[in-house]
Amino acid sequence: MPDPTLPDVQMNLVRPKEPVIGRLVGSESCMKGRSASFVRHVDIDVSGTPLEGNFRAGQAFGVVPPGCTAQGKPHSVRLYSIASPSWGEDGEGKVLSTTVKRVIDERDTDDAQVHDLFLGVCSNWLCDIALDAEVPVTGPSGKRFLLPERPNDHNYVFVATGTGIAPFRGMVKELLEHPDGPCTSQIHLALGVPYGTDLMYDDLFTTLAQSHDNFHYHTAISRPETGKRRYVDRVIVESEAITALLANERTLLYICGLKGMEDGIYRHLLEQGIVDQYLNWPDDIPREPSNVSERKVRAGARCMVEVY
Ligand code: NAP
Repeated sequence: MPDPTLPDVQMNLVRPKEPVIGRLVGSESCMKGRSASFVRHVDIDVSGTPLEGNFRAGQAFGVVPPGCTAQGKPHSVRLYSIASPSWGEDGEGKVLSTTVKRVIDERDTDDAQVHDLFLGVCSNWLCDIALDAEVPVTGPSGKRFLLPERPNDHNYVFVATGTGIAPFRGMVKELLEHPDGPCTSQIHLALGVPYGTDLMYDDLFTTLAQSHDNFHYHTAISRPETGKRRYVDRVIVESEAITALLANERTLLYICGLKGMEDGIYRHLLEQGIVDQYLNWPDDIPREPSNVSERKVRAGARCMVEVY
C-alpha cells in the first residue's frame, strides 16, 4: 500500500497584514451541557474574498481581532482550525466554521500578588460578536493535516483532546456526507474532555454513528464526577477494534489537541510492533517507551499530528 497522496492546497491567499472582511453568520454553543468552559461553533461568510472555495478541511484560517495591545500595536493574527468540510457549511465554500473556546484564566505572573482575571482577546471577541459583525480573516494555511486525495483507499483513526475536535468535525462530515456518497472505510473518532458536559458536537457524532455502521464514536472523560479518570489514549489502547485497525496498512492516524497526548498512543504503537508504520524512529534512538516523549521520533506519512 503506497503512502497517502495529499491534495494540493491553496496557502496564504490572504496575508496577516492585509486581512479581508468576512461576516459572522452563525454562533452557537457546541457543548453538551453547562460547564466551566464556553465553546462556540462559529460560522463566517467569506464569499467574495480569496478564501471562498479555497480552503480544505484540516487547514486553518486567521482572525485579526480589532484594537491594539497594551503597547499600542495592532493585535496580531490568531489561527483557528477549520471545522467545516472542504465545501463549507453552505455546500459552496462560501461559509467556513471553527470551534472557539473562550480563554479565561487567572493571570500567571512571577508576583504572587498579581493574579487578576485574564481574558483571551480574540477568542472572547469572536464569541461575543453578534450576527453580521465584520470579521477580519486571513489564510488559509496548512498543507499536511488533510484528508487524502482518495478517501476510500484508507481507514481513519481520529484522536482529539478538547477543541482539537475542530478539524475532525470537518473531516468526518466530508467522509460521511460526501455528495458522491459516504466513505465506506472504517472510521474511529475518539474525543477526550474534562467533563461530560464539555463534549463538543456530541449530537452530530452520535447521530452519524447511529446512521453509519463504519463510523465509531468514542469519548474519554478525564474528571468524571464518579469513577476513574480516563485520558483519550486509553480509548486507543483498550479498543481491540482500533488496535487491529491501526495494524492495517490502509489506516491513517490523525492526532489533534494538547501537546503530550500523542505519547500514550505512540507507546501503544511501539508495544504492538507497528510503530514504523506511523513514525520515523531514528536508528540511534533505542526503541523504548520512554523515548517517545523525547520528541525525537517524527510522524511519518500515515500519521498527521497537530498538537500545541
Ligand atoms: P480541554 O478542554 O482542556 O481538554 C483537554 C483534555 O485532554 C482534558 O480532558 C485533559 O485532562 C486531557 N489531557 C491532558 N493531558 C493529556 C495527555 N497527556 N493525554 C491525553 N489527554 C490529556 O482542551 P482545550 O482547552 O480545548 O485545549 C485543546 C488544545 O488543542 C489546545 O492546546 C489547542 O491549542 C489545541 N488545538 C489545536 C488545534 C490544531 O492544531 N489545529 C485545533 C484546536 C485546538 P485534564 O485537564 O483533566 O488533565
